[in-house]
Amino acid sequence: MRAVVFAAEGELTVAERPDPVPGPREVVIETAAVGMCGTDVHVLDGEFEGTVFPLVPGHEATGTVVALGPGADTGANALAVGDHVAVNPSSTCGECDLCLTGRQNLCRDWDGMGVVVADGAAQQRFTAPVANTFRLRPGTDLFEAALIEPLACAIHGWDVLPRRMGDHVLVYGSGTMGLLMAQLAPRAGAASVTIVDVNPDRLVTAAEVGIEHRYASAGDADRAEWDVVIDCTGNIAAIEDGLPRVKAGGVFQHFGVAPAGATARYSPFRIYRDEVSVVGTMAVLNSFGRAVEMFEAGAIRARPMISHGFTLDDYGEAVRMFRAGQGRKLQIRPNEVASRALLP
Ligand SMILES: [Zn+2]
Ligand SMILES: [Zn+2]
Repeated sequence: MRAVVFAAEGELTVAERPDPVPGPREVVIETAAVGMCGTDVHVLDGEFEGTVFPLVPGHEATGTVVALGPGADTGANALAVGDHVAVNPSSTCGECDLCLTGRQNLCRDWDGMGVVVADGAAQQRFTAPVANTFRLRPGTDLFEAALIEPLACAIHGWDVLPRRMGDHVLVYGSGTMGLLMAQLAPRAGAASVTIVDVNPDRLVTAAEVGIEHRYASAGDADRAEWDVVIDCTGNIAAIEDGLPRVKAGGVFQHFGVAPAGATARYSPFRIYRDEVSVVGTMAVLNSFGRAVEMFEAGAIRARPMISHGFTLDDYGEAVRMFRAGQGRKLQIRPNEVASRALLP
């Protein structure tokens, strides 16, 4: 079986590996698709806190169950060979103060498959605990469903946003996360959704998934202030542009990942005077199962969001394209024989 292996910081290889054997309450999954995101590139570059090399990357995965470990066919989430599944990559210690107060996404001993210690899904087959494995309907597209993991992050993002029916929402960044947050906004009660991105190609994707108000700059928009402003870029200039556009009583959310050492300027007086809230959101908290249900209910238009499928051997090319900002969501499809562009 073949696998992408990050042998060390900056060292990307494709290696032959023994077939995985499932432990108790684990399953083996034949990988259909693995989404690539900025986290993978940070892991490769040694910029993700806690990564232990060598590591197989890949945390946005779907596939088909091909083997069951002892006990995997029992219990509330009993699985069977042939089940189509999406996998929640997070595992938590269950023992620290944060786990014990319902904040497992902030666990002090957090592990993410393909990110920290456990191997990820950029290989032909991988193991996952039954507890992390979510069954999909037989008709659900396994390639599109690789967006369920980022969708679970977006749902947690909405979970922690104080908001009301009829809010006007502004999203910075028309990449995968911005497109997901914007598509969920009407479901969260928004009266309008505006998306901004400096890259006109990305605004084309926003149009294709149905976001009505799209601008290269928020200054060009048809309104001057929004109840909810969500940064999905991590870009300091975008953050400094967005925070002053929050309406009095409104909220600004940091969803995008800014560089760990970066700082942004804002007016403390304005935060005080206008009761502006600033909230963060980190990964997935009890939102994966809801992401499966929202995805299968058609809450997002997935097809226009995915531009390329790559074989394991072309993982390096996918990284190059990602760094260059080319394409839309890039996927690794470990059991396909050729890489290809998916959109006309
Ligand atoms: Zn990701
Ligand atoms: Zn913990």
